Amino acid sequence: MSTHRFHAPYVVTQDAEDRVLAPGVVEIADGWITRVEAANAAPAPDEPGPGLQIHHLDGVLLPGFVNTHAHTPMTLLRGAGEGLPVDRWLTEVMWPREARLTAEDVAWGMRLGATQLLRGGITTSVEMYFHPEALARAGREVGLRTVVTPPVLVAPGLEHHGSWQQQLERALELADLFRDDPLVDVGLGPHSAYAVPTEPLVATIDAAVAHGLLLHVHVAEGEHEGDVITAEHGLSVPRYLERLGALGTQLLAAHGVWLTDDDIALLAAHQTGVAHCPASNAKHASGLAPVRALRAAGVPVGIATDGPASHDRLDPFEEARTAIRLARLRERDAGALGPREALRMLTCEAAAALGRDDLGALEAGRRADLIHLELGPDLGPVLDPTQLVTHVVFSGSPAAVRDVWVGGQPAVVDHRPLAVDLTGASAEVTARARRVARR
Ligand SMILES: [Zn+2]
Repeated sequence: MSTHRFHAPYVVTQDAEDRVLAPGVVEIADGWITRVEAANAAPAPDEPGPGLQIHHLDGVLLPGFVNTHAHTPMTLLRGAGEGLPVDRWLTEVMWPREARLTAEDVAWGMRLGATQLLRGGITTSVEMYFHPEALARAGREVGLRTVVTPPVLVAPGLEHHGSWQQQLERALELADLFRDDPLVDVGLGPHSAYAVPTEPLVATIDAAVAHGLLLHVHVAEGEHEGDVITAEHGLSVPRYLERLGALGTQLLAAHGVWLTDDDIALLAAHQTGVAHCPASNAKHASGLAPVRALRAAGVPVGIATDGPASHDRLDPFEEARTAIRLARLRERDAGALGPREALRMLTCEAAAALGRDDLGALEAGRRADLIHLELGPDLGPVLDPTQLVTHVVFSGSPAAVRDVWVGGQPAVVDHRPLAVDLTGASAEVTARARRVARR
């Protein structure tokens, strides 16, 4: 077992004390963080040797970002259906093309997208997409940690994915297959309360509760969605999901835009996580999520890219800035959400939204998912360590991400992804996207 010790001028811990160590030391071994402290607190006496490698970095060490909602293989559909609201975009453009996707298409879309996520500093991504096994394997191949939530969806043109019973059965087999995998976790992803009829929705919820799996559902993304559920069942989307038993396991509510005060109190009482997708919500004019009210009530909110056909960048920095800007505009208050909070919504709070206490902070006992940012001209001047967080959020970009480790293994070194040639992957995805777009 080899130990790696990283020395950096700044270590942004994102632990409970929200510390910025300047300078700091992070030590990892066997895929886990074993020690984090200020460099001058306890000078380490031991010398480098076969069991200890020492790395002197010149920038900022942060925990890897946790992307709470994505459909990353949609790099194959990036830009399609531009200008449509979500319901028409899904039924008129996405589903017809998605009906033509093969497992190999999904694998290539994921290789390309997952590499872009890693280059942006995302080390964990919660994924909901077709051909989930191909997705999980492609993510693992490029070194990205994933929480894969196979969709359960009944929609015209998607019959070849089998009945909902078959989809659910295969999802549970997948959970078994990856049970001990260090990089892949499996949950269940019934698309939404409006797109999945009650019977398959209840069966999926029951299976998630019985097996203790994360339940990942689009919740109250568009205004029409609540109207449909209320007209049919007389309840808001969260109350409807509660009645069906969805709060009996860790629920991750994607989007969460159209929520009442009662919904927010319900989500807080159950520590339901919300995946906030500000750029996607703005692009589709879905609405402005009540982020301040959710967080004030104690709901863990993670920031998410959504799929690259919904936004279309896979850039957590831009998402964090957009979250701040939209929250401030919604509340008409420049103090509604700040960079410090937004960074937590990309790290420790995002991990909490998934019910994961092993991710999202530089702290002994968490997984060794780390990113190293360069302190270029965009990230200065740093007149005091806490100002650094403001620069990272408002001025950071994937271009600043120099190195990425996932589970202690390097995935990006000196800006270069180790597993995938981006030019080749991009050409492959373009060729496949052309075929899928053809009617
Ligand atoms: Zn989505």
